Amino acid sequence: MLNIVLFGPPGAGKGTQSEKLIERFKLVHLSTGDILRSEVANQTELGLEAKKLMDQGLLVPDEVVIGMIESKVDSNASSNGFIFDGFPRTSAQAKALDELLHRKGTSITRMLALEVSEEELITRLLLRGKDSGRADDQDESIIRKRIHEYTTKTAPVRDYYEAQGKYTGVNGIGSIDSIFESLCTAIEASAATR
Ligand code: AMP
Repeated sequence: MLNIVLFGPPGAGKGTQSEKLIERFKLVHLSTGDILRSEVANQTELGLEAKKLMDQGLLVPDEVVIGMIESKVDSNASSNGFIFDGFPRTSAQAKALDELLHRKGTSITRMLALEVSEEELITRLLLRGKDSGRADDQDESIIRKRIHEYTTKTAPVRDYYEAQGKYTGVNGIGSIDSIFESLCTAIEASAATR
């Protein structure tokens, strides 16, 4: 299996690049943000609880997202592999993901991190808020809160994969196609050395 963690702050382009990568490498896209937004739209109990945190730009509890990922990995057991987008976002989630994949006889191939400056992120997210209507993209103070959550809780996940020799940083500024080609080159290089 080819299992990629696509990493980076909110607005780095993870969703856009995931769409292209799943097509190129025939992978299943698992975005915890998308799964949570569909729970919110369906007004499930989980969705109603998660919405309170998402609206403030805070992370939802680890056990909630770990449970969601487990059931999605289980229901796609025969796939070529996965792109994890927006997950893991804490060290506890990263450990749980390793354990889950280990039980399935597989592991993370590579973490690819899209690197983008904070001011560029804010510009992109405010623009996305206008186009998509996502409430958490329309308020600059919530955007800054999400970036703060990323810096304090999520950025350490990078060290977790770096310690395993699995981290690759990719410049997230440029055209969608040129960033995509950089990601493909990194994936092909890591798949070749497995
Ligand atoms: P995203 O679409 O990935 O930016 O996620 C939107 C919101 O969903 C985040 O601001 C969090 O509130 C929540 N969320 C998504 N993924 C996770 C995760 N792995 N852990 C905790 N909260 C998450």
